Amino acid sequence: MGYIQERFGMMLLPKTKPGTCPMCGRKHEEGWPHDRDSLCYQYKFYDEHGRWPSWADAMAHCSDAVKAYWKEQLAARGIPLEAEPETVTMSFEVKADHNAPPAAIVTVEKEVKS
Ligand SMILES: [Zn+2]
Repeated sequence: MGYIQERFGMMLLPKTKPGTCPMCGRKHEEGWPHDRDSLCYQYKFYDEHGRWPSWADAMAHCSDAVKAYWKEQLAARGIPLEAEPETVTMSFEVKADHNAPPAAIVTVEKEVKS
């Protein structure tokens, strides 16, 4: 653990609600896959591995029978097993006006498309 912690000096979503999975924050049986789309899971996984999780990662701890069931269900929905979650890279310029009232201190000047 520590990729995000070392790089940014903080960790997002470190705790989950009581009664939920400590890894993904969802209510599921212990032997079932984590919710790959949970932000909590994605950040924890990224912190440990330096990349976003796939569904194969989310079910790595499951039995072969559970993995087979989930592979079948994901395939039926056209969801690739090994694909990482889609990410969008955005960049923008920010202009700070220190004389403006607090509500208007920061404004987005324009989006920069790459
Ligand atoms: Zn989980």
